Amino acid sequence: MAFLPFYISKHKKLKVVIIGGGYAGIAAMVTLLRYAPDTDVIIIDPRMQHLKITHLHETFRYPLTDLLVPFSDIASRFGCRHIATSIILDHDKLQEWQNKKKLTVGDEQVDFDYLLVASGCAGKLGDHSDNVLSLENFMVSAGSSLLTNLLFNNNQREQSISVVGGGATGIQFLFEIRQFITRIRSKAHLRLIHSGDHVLEQFPPSFNSYVQILLRDMDIAFYPNTYYRGQNSSSILLTDKKTENLFELPSDVSFLFLGKKQQNIFIANAFGQVLDDQKFLPNIFVAGDCSYYQSLGSNALTAQSAVRKGRLVARNILRHSGLIGLLEPYLHHDLGYVVSLGPSDAIGWLGTMRNSVTGMSALAIKEIVEAQYDFLLEGIDTYLV
Ligand SMILES: Cc1cc2nc3c(=O)[nH]c(=O)nc-3n(C[C@H](O)[C@H](O)[C@H](O)COP(=O)(O)OP(=O)(O)OC[C@H]3O[C@@H](n4cnc5c(N)ncnc54)[C@H](O)[C@@H]3O)c2cc1C
Repeated sequence: MAFLPFYISKHKKLKVVIIGGGYAGIAAMVTLLRYAPDTDVIIIDPRMQHLKITHLHETFRYPLTDLLVPFSDIASRFGCRHIATSIILDHDKLQEWQNKKKLTVGDEQVDFDYLLVASGCAGKLGDHSDNVLSLENFMVSAGSSLLTNLLFNNNQREQSISVVGGGATGIQFLFEIRQFITRIRSKAHLRLIHSGDHVLEQFPPSFNSYVQILLRDMDIAFYPNTYYRGQNSSSILLTDKKTENLFELPSDVSFLFLGKKQQNIFIANAFGQVLDDQKFLPNIFVAGDCSYYQSLGSNALTAQSAVRKGRLVARNILRHSGLIGLLEPYLHHDLGYVVSLGPSDAIGWLGTMRNSVTGMSALAIKEIVEAQYDFLLEGIDTYLV
């Protein structure tokens, strides 16, 4: 059992329920069991498998199964329990759970000492049809089979593929698609539609310049300041942001990466306890993309922040339950971020945003960060901060 500073157990076996078995939920579970192995942990998540979503764009190269870790394996590896259901979350419910310390899951009443909400943040959905795909589709089928099916269903003429969204997710998918269509010798045209002037706007301008060069070199048409309006059987409808003119381009399929919905986000104090009407709920914590901490730390919607928040709330749950009761504030700042640009290129920053890295060194950093998370899934915590 590892030593946790400022934690002296009251020798009561704790019951912790975690809603959401993504990056934050898993990091919290591993941390709880590392410092207090007899903790009774229940993970509630409607999926049967934990998804290593940060690799999702790589399913143009690897099977989706490579990214899935069955919750049954996690449960037997760590000795926790998984309940496969979705919980409806709102502030009234959280207040009720704080008062009763129990929640109803199907026919079962689940008691807890602490509850952690780590349900993530859903992506914005566009219209749904066979030739409009979003992240949700990639969570059930590999990119390679999704695109192959679409291209083979329509292989009578020159085809066009539209990728909508020039944020980190859209860009990562775009370059995987480029590489994939080259590999299968498809002559399909590829274009990127983006509502802003530049891609990767949350990063330094050098990221945009680097990507613009690749777009030209790889013959990917770029439509900045353009809004997506819809995709029909063979064309995409767009609006020019400045003139508001509606126009149409040939397109067989649209991939939508429109960012995340800002809903079901819970505000927390600097220790991760949910705030409700300016009062905090001492036994209800939140972490990951569904949380906004009132603290100096990073609230970025990244796996890195989700893991740090998950680990922090686990330590704070234990300390809150112990004899000293002194909690640790969240101060983590992201240490870097790498955006992959296909299998052999990437751009990122390390340490400070001014320190950018590209190519194989950037890819190597991404590999190391992802290997660290794989170790955590095995129960080995290699995170220093
Ligand atoms: C393609 C892609 C690439 C990315 N690359 C990177 C990267 O390189 N680096 C990085 O730092 N970040 C990256 N991110 C962002 C990162 O994946 C997220 O920030 C991270 O997954 C957030 O973790 P989380 O635990 O908050 O949520 P998630 O990992 O989304 O997990 C939430 C879990 O909660 C479950 N859930 C949802 N609602 C409920 C409910 N009502 N009841 C019960 N369970 C529920 C879900 O099934 C899910 O398992 C990437 C994201 C994508 C999509």
